[in-house]
Amino acid sequence: MRMKENTILCPGVFLDRDGTINEERGYITRVEELSLLPHSAEAIRLLNRLGLKAVVVTNQSGVARGYLTEERLREINGYMERLLREEGAGLDGVYYCPHHPLYGNENYRQNCFCRKPNPGMVFRASAYFLIDPKLSYIVGDKEEDIELAIRIGAKSILVLTGMGRKTLQNGTSPSYAADHLLDAARWIENDLTVSRNQGNL
Ligand SMILES: [Mg+2]
Ligand SMILES: [Zn+2]
Repeated sequence: MRMKENTILCPGVFLDRDGTINEERGYITRVEELSLLPHSAEAIRLLNRLGLKAVVVTNQSGVARGYLTEERLREINGYMERLLREEGAGLDGVYYCPHHPLYGNENYRQNCFCRKPNPGMVFRASAYFLIDPKLSYIVGDKEEDIELAIRIGAKSILVLTGMGRKTLQNGTSPSYAADHLLDAARWIENDLTVSRNQGNL
């Protein structure tokens, strides 16, 4: 990615979807199966107020596996965005990986660069929104989210919703373990203040 030398890049927050913003329900294949976790809208409103881009990056191998179409996935993502918007919370973007290395037809069965913990979705969003991944935060409930953060030099927040407690039990080293997404957003707010006072931002 090439940038003009004087382009100022900002921090961003990359959010996992299932188990982080909405209830973990295995493969969600219909809008009726998606419900927001209690603190999600307030958390994203806080990120909005802080002026941070809030971008969803989600692995959705259910598409490769044939459980839902990409069209249906976009409908479900749109429904999530609408539920949040009704509570005054705005997502700046929703990126998904429909692939899987082992399952699906040749369109979807591939070792792609976008499936977390690979950084493809973060890099694509960062180029679009002028985000510096190294100044950014990854929030999710699985080891792949923490690993993604490590790979790109971002800070990682494990939320203890969804699969988060299990992930913690299995052993992981996030920058912070948050009770839920709002706790994560508040930690980010504080961490940004510390970084600014240290002159890192
Ligand atoms: Mg998840
Ligand atoms: Zn992919």
